Amino acid sequence: MIKTVLEQQKTVNGNEISLLDAGGTGKTILTIGVFHGDEPSGKYLIEKYLKNIKKTKNRLLFIPCLNPDGLFAGTRGNANGVDLNRNFPTKNWQLSEKNKYFGGESPAGEIETKFLINIIENYRPDLILTLHEPYRIVNYDGPAQDIAEKISEITGYKTEESIGYPTPGSFGTYCGIERHIPVITLEFAPTIESEDAVLPIETPEKLWCLYEKVMNFLAEF
Ligand SMILES: [Zn+2]
Repeated sequence: MIKTVLEQQKTVNGNEISLLDAGGTGKTILTIGVFHGDEPSGKYLIEKYLKNIKKTKNRLLFIPCLNPDGLFAGTRGNANGVDLNRNFPTKNWQLSEKNKYFGGESPAGEIETKFLINIIENYRPDLILTLHEPYRIVNYDGPAQDIAEKISEITGYKTEESIGYPTPGSFGTYCGIERHIPVITLEFAPTIESEDAVLPIETPEKLWCLYEKVMNFLAEF
């Protein structure tokens, strides 16, 4: 299977973010890994899937690592200390405290955020899957309840609609709630220790069989 690089963007620290096309002509499904640099398993899982993929009905697009600067530094935020999942230009975006959820100096002020917004506008995905850690839940925004329930069945993680608390500038609010694009936030078990990690820690290899089943479903639904 040939993977085509559709778009590339250099970050503040000179690392590359890529959008890859794994083929297929049906619905467009965009999967995004490593929104948060201290949640590394998404990159591992996407790269392994791309090595193993054979054929797909739906068009599968991937950003294996949205936040390479954060990944290399082991930080949640990017090189500017911005939580990318609080930097989207939602109606409720606001300047926030400079803690680990810092939403940046301005909405869509970060290179990674702009890159992703352009992709959403140019490729118009029918469904977006983002890979996070460590809460073991299937979160969803927008019209994604049915798919979230199916992914919950596959993974054994419970489903939650993200309406519990406000998350200004979040990707789910931007795409799911304000643009009605189904967004699934798949929170895997933790693969590294952190203050939020709910024990036990699992290896990325152990998460692989869950992820592979999720993708096999999304490739054909
Ligand atoms: Zn996360």
